[in-house]
Amino acid sequence: MDPLLPPLDHEELYVRRGPRSGLTTIVAVHSTARGPALGGCRVWNYDHPALAVRDALRLARAMTYKAACADQPLGGGKGVIALPPGVRLTGALRRAALLDFGETVDRLGGRYVTAEDVGIGSRDMPVIAETTRHVSGLATRLGGSGDPSPFTALGVEAAIRTTLARVFDDSSLRGRTIAVIGLGHVGSRVAQRCARAGARLLLADVDPAKRALAERLGARWTTPARALTAKVDLLSPCALGGVLDEAVVPRLRCAAIAGAANNQLATDHVAAALAARGIVWAPDFVCNAGGIVNIAVELEPSGYDAAVARRRVRAIGDTLAEVFATAEAERITPLDAAIALGEQRLAAAQNPA
Ligand code: NAD
Repeated sequence: MDPLLPPLDHEELYVRRGPRSGLTTIVAVHSTARGPALGGCRVWNYDHPALAVRDALRLARAMTYKAACADQPLGGGKGVIALPPGVRLTGALRRAALLDFGETVDRLGGRYVTAEDVGIGSRDMPVIAETTRHVSGLATRLGGSGDPSPFTALGVEAAIRTTLARVFDDSSLRGRTIAVIGLGHVGSRVAQRCARAGARLLLADVDPAKRALAERLGARWTTPARALTAKVDLLSPCALGGVLDEAVVPRLRCAAIAGAANNQLATDHVAAALAARGIVWAPDFVCNAGGIVNIAVELEPSGYDAAVARRRVRAIGDTLAEVFATAEAERITPLDAAIALGEQRLAAAQNPA
C-alpha cells in the first residue's frame, strides 16, 4: 500500500465542486467522538484533486489526535480548497471559493467546524461565515477568538522548553541555538519569543522578504536546506509538512526537534529513525495544539477569555513531558507515546463507562 495513504478510518469524507468557483472543496471528518470535528481550511495547489483528498484525510486524522492529546472536547477534521497547478486564489475567484467552501462546511450540519490554516487568513473567515455558521477564529470584535497563531506560537514555545529540559535537563532558552524554518504567522512569533528568551537564532524561509525579521532580531539568516541540517540545539520546523524523511535524518545535526508545522514526518517510520539517532522529536500534533486550545475556549458557552486560553495553552508543555516520560518508560518513540495518549482519551470518550 502507498505509505503516504492514511488509514481510512474516517467518519465522513465530503468532496464537492463549488458551483461558483468550479474548484474542488473537501471536508474530511475523522472523528466526532470527543466533540465537533475542528480543523483549519487549507488552500493549496495540487497536481490532482485526489492528492488534496489524501491531504484532507491525513490532516483530519492528525487533528483528532491533536485535540485528544490536548484533552479538548473536540474531534478532528480538515477542509481543503484544491487549486490546480499555477492557479492563485485572488479577487473574485477567492470570494467565490470561500463561499463555496462555507456551503460545503454547512452541509455537514456542525459536525465539522472550520478555522484558519495555510493559505487562509483572518480576512477570509467572515466570507466563509456568509454561507455557514460553523466557523471559528472570527475576529474578537465579531465574538470570536481571532487569529490562532499567537496561541500556537505560545504552545510551541512551551513545547520547546519541555524538549530542551528533556535533552539538557534545563528548560531555559538562554544561550541555546535554535533554527526556525518558516517565518509565517506562527514561525515569526516563535522566533520572536525565542529571541526574547535569550536564544541564539538561525532563521530561514523561502520568502526573501522574511530576512528583515532576522535582521530585526539579530539572528543569522540562511536557506531552509542549510537550516535543516545546521548544528543547533533545537530545530523548529514552522513551514510545511514532510520536512523530515528517511534521506534527511542521517544528515541532521540538531539534538532535538519541536515546531509548529503539521505532519513533519514524511512517514511514521521516520520517528524510529530519529530515535535511533538519539534526536528527540516532539510530536508536531502535541506542540502545535495552541490554536485549537484557544478555539475550544471560544466554543464554550461562557464565551471567549484570552487569559483562560493562555493558561490552557501553556499546559502543552506538561502534556509533552507526559509523552516523553511514557516513551522512555515503555521504550517507544514519542510519536507512539503521543498516539497512545490520544487513543486512550478517544476510547474514554467512546466508552465513558
Ligand atoms: P504561514 O502560511 O503563515 O507561514 C508559512 C511560512 O513558511 C511562510 O513564511 C512561507 O514563506 C514559508 N515556507 C513555505 N514553504 C517553505 C519551505 N519549503 N521552506 C521554508 N519556508 C517555507 O503558515 P502558519 O500559519 O505560520 O503555519 C505554519 C505551519 O504550522 C503549517 O504547517 C501549519 O499547518 C501549522 N500550524 C499552524 C497553526 C496556526 O495557528 N496558524 C496551528 C497549528 C499548526
